[in-house]
Amino acid sequence: MDILVTGGAGFIGGHLAESFAREGHDVTALDNLDPYYDIGIKKQNIDLGRLAAQEQRESATGLSETNSAGKADSETFEYDETEHPEPDVGSYEFVEGDVRNAELVTELVTNADVVYHQAAQAGVRTSVNQPRKPNDINVDGTLNVLDAARESDTERVVLASSSSVYGKPEYLPYDEDHPTTPVSPYGVSKLAAEQYARVYNEVYGLPTVSLRYFTVYGPRMRPNMAISNFVSRCLDGKPPVIYGDGKQTRDFTYIDDIVGVNQQLLRDDAADGEVMNVGSTDNIDIRTLAEVIRDELAPSLEIEYTDAREGEAAHTHANIEKANSLLGYEPSTDIRDGVSKFIDWYQQNREWYEPLVLQS
Ligand code: NAD
Repeated sequence: MDILVTGGAGFIGGHLAESFAREGHDVTALDNLDPYYDIGIKKQNIDLGRLAAQEQRESATGLSETNSAGKADSETFEYDETEHPEPDVGSYEFVEGDVRNAELVTELVTNADVVYHQAAQAGVRTSVNQPRKPNDINVDGTLNVLDAARESDTERVVLASSSSVYGKPEYLPYDEDHPTTPVSPYGVSKLAAEQYARVYNEVYGLPTVSLRYFTVYGPRMRPNMAISNFVSRCLDGKPPVIYGDGKQTRDFTYIDDIVGVNQQLLRDDAADGEVMNVGSTDNIDIRTLAEVIRDELAPSLEIEYTDAREGEAAHTHANIEKANSLLGYEPSTDIRDGVSKFIDWYQQNREWYEPLVLQS
């Protein structure tokens, strides 16, 4: 299939593009390489997408050579295409460009069967300092994608939304009927984007699915997040520093679970028109997270605390029954396994990744 991943050089988009390329799809990754965190990670993501497509091509071509050699060697051999279908040979193309560029977005969306819209000004903190930016990118950019898709034969648009749409919890865990009163400009922009997706589904019949992600982590994650920061400090012999009292809770969701549900949506229409939580089942407070990392890397360090930051929700916790009943979604990596996998990856990639964490 032809798949467009906007924000395809970012953390989640990079993993999605790589996984689709590895499966032999034709992937286009659109990204403007926004420098709000170091673009070294984005370049890695692009390289890994290219590599995945190349490896897939090599293994598919190897198979195809065996088939045609068999055909040439035997005069009586009759090639049966149903028995030996042409191998899927995928591709990966990176396009440097902006989702606010309607003309470019229209061209790319028109060529795609399915669109995974990840491009965004991600993160709450930046939005508190620059409140207009998430509106420009996350709302106008999304409208460009949806509008192009309604004019073409797009089979599905899958939108990356966020638990930030909920804001102050009236009850936990949040189900999708929980009131949405975001407490940051970022949350407002994500809510507006998914409302547009719903309206484009209801009014124009465009199949859209909005996935509300809950704090995604894993290899190549944005370097300005708590997990990468705690790991970096502990490896450096410095105590992890927590903003606030550490009682804030999060559903940390491992990247492989996010990739899995997105892969399923390539062909599964059970969630069309829906918005749903995609979180993990083990909710954890930030203090415990810091302790898990500290205990693994530097047990003698005392955790430190500093002032809480504006715009961050005190608690996020996902009820994932809807994603489970519609898509059979079940997160498979718990926080301890995920943190341990991330630490392994961090240590193998420390040379290039750590400087990015330190400067973020
Ligand atoms: P990310 O910042 O790594 O990825 C976003 C990508 O979008 C970046 O590569 C950036 O360069 C690109 N981008 C930004 N503005 C653009 C523009 N105008 N045109 C084209 N590309 C642009 O963030 P991520 O963590 O991979 O998040 C991916 C999506 O998931 C975002 O929509 C984010 O809001 C959402 N999300 C992420 C999390 C999380 O915990 N990581 C949680 C909830 C929601």
